[in-house]
Amino acid sequence: MGRVKNLKSLDRAGLEAFFRQEGLPAFRARQAIHWIYEKNVRDISEITEFAKPLRDSLSQKAYISNLALKERQVSADGTEKYLFGLEDGNSIESVLIPDEKRLTLCVSSQVGCALSCRFCLTGKLGMIRDLRAHEIVDQYLSARRLAAPRKITNMVFMGMGEPLNNLENVASALKRLTELAHFSRRRITVSTSGIAPKILELPERAPLVNLAVSLNASTDEVRDRIMPINRRYNLEALFEALRRFPLPPRSRITFEYVMLSGVNDTDADARRAAALLRGIPSKINLIPFNEHEGSIFRTPSDKRALAFRKILTDAGYTAIIRKSKGRDILAACGQLKAKY
Ligand code: SAH
Ligand code: SF4
Repeated sequence: MGRVKNLKSLDRAGLEAFFRQEGLPAFRARQAIHWIYEKNVRDISEITEFAKPLRDSLSQKAYISNLALKERQVSADGTEKYLFGLEDGNSIESVLIPDEKRLTLCVSSQVGCALSCRFCLTGKLGMIRDLRAHEIVDQYLSARRLAAPRKITNMVFMGMGEPLNNLENVASALKRLTELAHFSRRRITVSTSGIAPKILELPERAPLVNLAVSLNASTDEVRDRIMPINRRYNLEALFEALRRFPLPPRSRITFEYVMLSGVNDTDADARRAAALLRGIPSKINLIPFNEHEGSIFRTPSDKRALAFRKILTDAGYTAIIRKSKGRDILAACGQLKAKY
């Protein structure tokens, strides 16, 4: 088995090299890419543009991996959560979120996460391993099948894991999604807890996508406590990187702010958050904390969330309160743990 190549593990150059090695012309690689990334085939035998003898001989040397759908849950609000099995037996979750105009797929970038944010269930898992590029892309390819005939319009890297801690694979996945699967980079958002140096590395290594930052606090003191990564890259380091981020014209950085009752949701927090964002084209998503079993935090009242929002909008920002979808099936922000 060692010599059998997984075609999905190869990027464009890798596929071209593989077909060349097999003595096949370059257009065969292009055809394979088209069938895998656009026609969504899951087996070499389905690439009917290849004559049967070619399919048979290729199948001796190569195969196409697929995620195994282990469970599909549908929330009362239409959100769907997929539990996918990986080839090594680990599992991950992806979430499909419909709203009026959009169908957004939320993908995972790691199995677990090393960063232990106090409010996040994925953080409680600890770090299990990085996802490989094709395992990230495959969440899209699998979900695209499962969602059909609906079309996935947007993708967010907001599932399990810290994407910038797996930059190499995330960058490669972004290239494959945009160049091989032709998904628009403008409709992809990568969310980070704030790994400052990697924020600037991302656009150097991958197609320029939208950036979201999990701010979640307005002082280093509180952020240190709820997001230990802040002890390494504090607010000053984070905002210094954000101010240098090569934002395309007319686009904005999204700031996520999980509201934790009595911890980060005062009027003073809202004013400090507004001050931090000054000069950065931004929009703010306020996410009332999704409670989960054993969580020590509480979700704020609607009245508190509205007052917080008003301070931000009065300061000139676009701020919306995002009631997370899919809470009933643990598919909401910070609730993914893939049954570990
Ligand atoms: N690791 C990246 C990508 C995951 S995005 C990041 O942290 O940005 C997951 C989002 O859900 C983050 O904005 C996080 O702050 C938020 N979140 C985590 N736990 C939550 C919870 N219990 N309730 C609401 N939002 C939560
Ligand atoms: Fe990791 Fe993001 Fe959860 Fe923090 S919020 S533990 S960075 S997945």
